[in-house]
Amino acid sequence: MKIINHRLCKDDGTPYPFVESPNQGSKLTAEFLVMHYTALDSAQEAIALLAKAEHQASAHLVIGRDGSITQLVPFDTVAWHAGKSFWDGRTGLNNSSIGIELDNVGWLKKQGTKWVSWFGKQIPEDEVLEATHKNDDKPMGWHTYPEAQLKAAMEVGALLVRTYKLKDVVGHDDIAPGRKLDPGPAFPMMNFRGRLMGRAEEQPVVHEVTATLNVRSGPGTSNPTVPGSPLPLGTKVEILAKQAEWRRVDVLQPVNGQMDIQGWVHQRYLKRLG
Ligand SMILES: [Zn+2]
Repeated sequence: MKIINHRLCKDDGTPYPFVESPNQGSKLTAEFLVMHYTALDSAQEAIALLAKAEHQASAHLVIGRDGSITQLVPFDTVAWHAGKSFWDGRTGLNNSSIGIELDNVGWLKKQGTKWVSWFGKQIPEDEVLEATHKNDDKPMGWHTYPEAQLKAAMEVGALLVRTYKLKDVVGHDDIAPGRKLDPGPAFPMMNFRGRLMGRAEEQPVVHEVTATLNVRSGPGTSNPTVPGSPLPLGTKVEILAKQAEWRRVDVLQPVNGQMDIQGWVHQRYLKRLG
């Protein structure tokens, strides 16, 4: 992908879908990238809402769970995604940031044995991460981000950082703590920011597996194994998230003919390298 005239385009120059939002301000010189979740039922719903004048909110991009990307505001124009916020000496980050919304229902509460969103949508167990938000002290459920969506976010995020020489990548929950929870603990922010900014101190720590190891779709042996599992002894992985004794990992090499494996393993079988 590339950027032509502040619009996101494919390599051959074809623009990505553009649904212009009237909720935009003056010229933007972006310094930061701000990540969000939509807390809605679908990307289509989010795009429709953010393109309505009475909603008074927008973002530059919405990324669907399948990795599809829709642009709503050109990258040289202010979008209304951050609200009251502060970061690195700036306030009101709309005027200094590009905003990306990820289709994700957000935080989840437990009703009996089921996880449900704030608007009552039931989310299957294998799409739920139980974790405590960094700005909170109680564990909750969080809707996980599919790999296709994270990959798309990584690709477009890196392009934006390069093109606009952005200084930092943050979450809405970093710039509006106490008021906002998105993108939340299910989003691998440390890894994402580290890769986009190429910061030495946030370079991922590589681990090696010390046994033939099953990779599961969730933290716990009751979750099914993912395609490509089990990993052979010595496979190199990087940790994306933690939950009790379990680690969500990104497998750094193709295994059993399978590329880009991600899933959960028990920490007992990981050995830190370097
Ligand atoms: Zn947000």
